[in-house]
Amino acid sequence: MDLEALLAALVPSWNSVILLLSYFVYLATIGSVLPGKIVPGAVLPDGSRLHYRCNGLASLLLLIALLGAGIYMKWISSAVIADKGVELLSATFIFSLFVSLVLYATGLKSQSKSSSLRPHVTGDFVHDWWFGVQLNPHCLGIDLKFFFVRAGMMGWLLINLSLLAKTYEAGNANVSVILYHTFCALYVLDYFFYEEFMTSTWDIIAERLGFMLVFGDLVFIPFTFSIQGWWLLKNKVELTKTAAVANCLVFFIGYQVFRGANRQKHIFKKDPKALIWGKPPKVIGGKLLASGYWGIARHCNYLGDLLLALSFSLPCGISSAIPYFYPTYLFILLIWRERRDEARCSQKYKEIWTEYCRLVPWRILPYVY
Ligand code: NDP
Repeated sequence: MDLEALLAALVPSWNSVILLLSYFVYLATIGSVLPGKIVPGAVLPDGSRLHYRCNGLASLLLLIALLGAGIYMKWISSAVIADKGVELLSATFIFSLFVSLVLYATGLKSQSKSSSLRPHVTGDFVHDWWFGVQLNPHCLGIDLKFFFVRAGMMGWLLINLSLLAKTYEAGNANVSVILYHTFCALYVLDYFFYEEFMTSTWDIIAERLGFMLVFGDLVFIPFTFSIQGWWLLKNKVELTKTAAVANCLVFFIGYQVFRGANRQKHIFKKDPKALIWGKPPKVIGGKLLASGYWGIARHCNYLGDLLLALSFSLPCGISSAIPYFYPTYLFILLIWRERRDEARCSQKYKEIWTEYCRLVPWRILPYVY
């Protein structure tokens, strides 16, 4: 794409705006009507709890089936998302900007005293708009934070499926392409299979909804996590058998650590007596799990995620740094987040946290960090 075409594509066409809005309307409607497990969220400071309808997997599979039928009937092209990539990116960016300003304005006006809707205002516009004013704003009964992260994760898979179709049509599908797309698809499907685990993550329990999260969920996740897919569309990589096997191994180990750690924490929060790796858990102060992955490092789940991120880039070989954007970004984000989470936990758990740090001195990677 030359510069002129790129600049023109930055102004979204009505088609891409309609495509984007139809996607949101589908998710909002189907998410409200499809059955799903109702999961209670974390207990908020005022003692209240939100409830989340975890029907993301069913919503996603239904959407893929509907799109598949549309493609089969030749109503839509399988490459439509890949073809409109830049336009969709700018449409989503403008939408995020708009939504975050609306969130800021409505948050300021809120008179609510509840933990979910009470406004947190510093008076610094940039800070309040960026980090958000309310913890859990909602619209028409939909929890917006849960909705946006769902839209972003599904968007990533939809972009990838469209890129895969385009790469296949161009005759460029090979082992690298298959590995990258399979790993990402498994990651996203797994995310929705375990969607209820999301309800106890930092974003949901601690982060307010401002531009940072809206942009992160709607723009950053789908459009930058798929960079490798865009790159493989234009660049052919021939992996050796050894490299392909090593790549699968990194994915597999990363997945075990990532999913295992997140699952252990989730199970522990629901039942502090549940067995961890077949043994009664080691618990500090009745609140913190110090066995299983949580006895190896205080954020083993981040280590697993970093290995997974690396496994999504390795199919692109090492000739370019561009496909390594995602692991690099995630590395910086998770180090920063680990520090913020550490400060939050230290304040929340006080001497119990100090005891945990003494017992489990490693933050993410034992003997290194
Ligand atoms: P965690 O799921 O690790 O949640 C941190 C919270 O868990 C803490 O604030 C504390 O909350 C609780 N906690 C911490 N240690 C313990 C313990 N030993 N026992 C019991 N509870 C504990 O962090 P995130 O929400 O940041 O991450 C969730 C997943 O999402 C991770 O796997 C991460 O890699 C992934 N992620 C991916 C991103 C991406 O862009 N791909 C971005 C961000 C995260 P409490 O007050 O409830 O006790």
